[in-house]
Amino acid sequence: MGSRRFRKPFTQQEPLSPEAIENAVNVMQGGRLHRYNVAEGETSQASLLEQEFADYQDAKYCLACTSGGYALHISLRCVGLKAGEPVLTNAFTLAPVPGAIHNAGGKPVLIDTEADLTIDLKDLESKAKSSGARFLMLSHMRGHIADMNAITSICEQHGLMLIEDCAHTMGASWKSTKSGNFGKIACFSTQTYKHLNSGEGGFLTTDDAEIMARAVIHSGSYMLYEKHLCRPSNDVFDSVKLHTPNYSGRMDNLRAAILRAQLKQLDANCKRWNDRYHVLADKLKNASGITVPVRLEHEHFVASSFQFFLDVDDDVEVVEFINECAKRGVEIKWFGSDQPKGFTSRYDSWQYIQSQPDLPKTKQVLKTLCDMRIPLTFSLEDCAAIADIIEDCAKQIIYS
Ligand SMILES: *Cc1c(COP(=O)(O)O)cnc(C)c1O
Repeated sequence: MGSRRFRKPFTQQEPLSPEAIENAVNVMQGGRLHRYNVAEGETSQASLLEQEFADYQDAKYCLACTSGGYALHISLRCVGLKAGEPVLTNAFTLAPVPGAIHNAGGKPVLIDTEADLTIDLKDLESKAKSSGARFLMLSHMRGHIADMNAITSICEQHGLMLIEDCAHTMGASWKSTKSGNFGKIACFSTQTYKHLNSGEGGFLTTDDAEIMARAVIHSGSYMLYEKHLCRPSNDVFDSVKLHTPNYSGRMDNLRAAILRAQLKQLDANCKRWNDRYHVLADKLKNASGITVPVRLEHEHFVASSFQFFLDVDDDVEVVEFINECAKRGVEIKWFGSDQPKGFTSRYDSWQYIQSQPDLPKTKQVLKTLCDMRIPLTFSLEDCAAIADIIEDCAKQIIYS
C-alpha cells in the first residue's frame, strides 16, 4: 500500500436535508426573517427553535443567538461579572473562550491540562483559591468531559459558579446528565463545524429565570420579549429590563428554520460521529508511535473530532509527520505550533491576557497533540483508510 492517497476534503459538510431546505424556502418566501417580525397569531421560527432545543436539552429556558462566542460573552454579563474580575478557564480551548471573557471585561485565568485533555483539577483548586474567582467557564474542549462530580464539588467548595462551554458536547452526557446541565448556564454553537450547522449561531440555556431575562434583553429584544415562547414571566423582565444593555446578537428565522430540521437528526448524527471515531480509535490505539487519549468511564461523548499523540520528543518530527500525512491527503492539525493557525492556537498566543501563567503540563500535552475533524461525509471505510495512512506515516517518522 505505502502510497495510497486519500482524496476527500476534510471540511466538506453534508448537504442540508430536504426538510431544512423547504423550511428555509418558506421563511424566505414569507420575507419575515427578523425573529420579531411575525404575522398575526404566528410564532417565529427562532422562538420555536428555542423551545425545541430547551426540550432536547432538558433545560427550562433557551435563547438562540448569533454565535457560541456571543452566548459565552453575554453569559458572563448576565451573572454580573465586574470589570477586571478573574474567570477561570481551560488553557486547552479555542480562542473564542478567552475572547468571550475578555469581551465581558473579565481576566482569563488559565488552568493546566491533563493527558486525557480535560482540565487539571489540582490546578483548578489551587487557582480557585489564589485568584478568588467567582466563575469557572469550563470548556469541554474537543468533546472531552472532565469528571463532572469532581468539578461540581470543587465549585461548591470554592464558591465558583459554573458556566459550561458545550461547543463540542451538544448531545453528550456525563453519567445520565446531559453536558450543559451541571452549571448555571450552558453555551452551544451552531457554527458549521459543530454538531448543528447554520453557518453561524449559538444557544444559551439555563434554569435561572433572572439570568434568562437578562440574556434575552442583552441579545437585543427591543422589549419584544413577550414574543419568546421559552421565557420567564413578565415580572422577571420588569425587574431587569431597565438595567440591561442591548448587545444585539439575535438569531434570525432563516437560520432557525434550518436548525429546527437539523435538531431532529442530532442524536442519529451523534451516533454516526461515534461510529466513525471508533473505527479510527480502534485501529490506532495499538499502532506504534501513536497514543490515543483515554476516555473516562462515565463520559458519553460525541466524537465529531479525533485526537491522538505522536510519540516523539521533537517538534520537527511532528511537523514532518503532518507533512507526510498531507502528501497522502490526510489533513492533521497540530495544537503545539507556536504560531496560531486554522482554528488551533496555543494559549501563549493569546498575548492580550496579562501575566500569563506557565503551564508545563499543557505545553507538554499540546507539544505532540494531533487533531482531525470527522466530517459526516466520510464513510466508515474512509475512516479506516485514514487510520492506515496515519499509522504508515507515524511508522515512517518513528523508524526513520
Ligand atoms: C466554536 C467554539 C466556540 C464558539 O463558537 P462560535 O459559534 O464559533 O463563536 C466556543 N468554544 C469552543 C471550544 C469552540 O470550538
